[in-house]
Amino acid sequence: MSRFLNRLGVKIFISYLLIVLLVVIVLALAVSLSLPSVFERHMAGMGSSMGAMMGRPGSIMTQSLFTNFRAAVREAITVAALVAVGAALIASLVVSRQVLRPVHAMTLVSQRIAQGHYTERVPLPGDIQETHPDELAQLALSFNQMAGNLEQTENMRRQLIGDITHELRTPLTIIKGTMEGLLDGVLPPNEENYQLVHQESDRLQRLVDDLQELSRVESGAYDLHRLPVAVSDLLTATRRRLERQYEEKGVGFQVIVPAGLPAVLADEDRASQVLLNLAGNALQYTPSGGQVTISARQVGREVEFKVQDTGIGIPQEHLPNLFTRFYRVDKSRSRAGGGSGIGLTIAKHLVEAHQGRIWVESPGTGGGSTFYFTLPVV
Ligand code: ADP
Repeated sequence: MSRFLNRLGVKIFISYLLIVLLVVIVLALAVSLSLPSVFERHMAGMGSSMGAMMGRPGSIMTQSLFTNFRAAVREAITVAALVAVGAALIASLVVSRQVLRPVHAMTLVSQRIAQGHYTERVPLPGDIQETHPDELAQLALSFNQMAGNLEQTENMRRQLIGDITHELRTPLTIIKGTMEGLLDGVLPPNEENYQLVHQESDRLQRLVDDLQELSRVESGAYDLHRLPVAVSDLLTATRRRLERQYEEKGVGFQVIVPAGLPAVLADEDRASQVLLNLAGNALQYTPSGGQVTISARQVGREVEFKVQDTGIGIPQEHLPNLFTRFYRVDKSRSRAGGGSGIGLTIAKHLVEAHQGRIWVESPGTGGGSTFYFTLPVV
């Protein structure tokens, strides 16, 4: 019984019925209260013309006329009430069908999505863009938006598993192949082969570390202690960390610290991590004899950091994807350098966590690259 009463259609019918009952009660009360005086007034009006036939007000004839008239009015109100209840029933059926159709559709679609069919969507009226959607259409729109986000997340999850599997496979295959060759005596047990195994396990280790860091920044599971930081501190710390590696490779390294720059509001460690990543990449993708320049300038309420190199450059078609995880322009070259294609994705997350932006410009292969990112001034 309570299940039946809980149905939306029944609730709509009951609400209509209550209104009908209320109207009938008010009508009956108003009629019974006003009927005697109204009747007398009309009788008085008719008295002059029909006086002889009807007799004086208060006579037996008049009283019987009043009783019959009241019975007729009651009967008419009863019939009207029954018709109104019937109309309420039909109206509630029509309205509840209208209301319930999209709700039913959403229930079915949500069940399909729960079963893993992420492409399912609630059908929307074709003219929804032109007309103002009602609350139910808005609910259906939001529902479809949520389904779209779920689908995207699911695709990203699948893509991530595929990417990780792919990344793990190469070093594992090399380690396994080399070890089998060593065990079978096909490969000589020399330093070169042991180095190869060591190098690949090192790559695996780095990949796992990068993935852990990526998952941490993607889920926001890290603390961001934003404090005023001097731009010169960030730039000189990067120079100190990488100076020796630049020297070893024979790449010029210039850090330009302009005077009078305002402090930025940043987590010093995280901002340094971004700069180190960009300056490290610049070193990796610039041949010896090249030049890398790091500088900063104020643009409005932000400080724009710039890492410019004279290295191998990046073809135009790769620029939009560079900050996507596992994306590498030249897979073999980057892999040889130990790159997993995660560094820039992490840098992007960290910069955006500071309400900054990160982007890259390059005239193409051989033309060098310039990476920019911004941090808000205090
Ligand atoms: P990786 O660990 O492979 O370097 P990143 O996310 O840091 O991963 O970089 C993604 C890709 O962007 C690199 O594989 C490389 O192809 C390209 N790239 C990054 N920095 C530079 C640069 N300064 N010059 C040329 N290519 C670059």
